[in-house]
Amino acid sequence: MLLQIMQVGPLGVNCYIVGDDATRQVVVIDPGGHARQINTTVENLRARVCGIVLTHAHFDHLMGVEALKRATGAPLLVGAQEKPVLESVERQGEMFGIAVPPVPDPERWLSEGDVVEAGNFKLQVYEVPGHSPGSIALYNADNAIVFVGDVLMRGTIGRTDFPGGSPEVLLRSIRTKLYTLPDATQVYSGHGPMTTIGEEKLLNPFTKNYV
Ligand SMILES: [Zn+2]
Repeated sequence: MLLQIMQVGPLGVNCYIVGDDATRQVVVIDPGGHARQINTTVENLRARVCGIVLTHAHFDHLMGVEALKRATGAPLLVGAQEKPVLESVERQGEMFGIAVPPVPDPERWLSEGDVVEAGNFKLQVYEVPGHSPGSIALYNADNAIVFVGDVLMRGTIGRTDFPGGSPEVLLRSIRTKLYTLPDATQVYSGHGPMTTIGEEKLLNPFTKNYV
């Protein structure tokens, strides 16, 4: 597996370049900005981007999409339920005083059970609404890793005060989807450090009553 982590964009989102080390095919998850640096990192890996995937469509996760798409020609993949949020990115940015570059229309809408492929590397799609209605998690069983966006972070959970957010729905997503993954699964979040499913089940105060 190839895996590179970069902090990008105005709010320091974790952007992940992940894929197959044999064929050098990768997907880029959440290019929140710094598209040129992301592209340079991909080139240094001698890799080819075969997809740009958003865990959800909050503006800080997607400010590099347009430029990265122009540089790589890769298709954009977004959770099917995230369409209204994706249409609101300009307004989202205005609330933070940030001009968000226009996001091109996705080539593919993702739903529960879909698989995103980069060569022989596969990411299984889980719908995990609550932080945003179309939030998705991307799970690779072979390497025991999951990319969860802003649903679950080390010691905390995602905010639910944005449009379409819900604390009940978020906790249900964590309990019925993420917490069914093996304890050793490494969790890569949209913000902050890596954790594991087992560590969060044990220590996360926000999900304590739900394990
Ligand atoms: Zn978010």
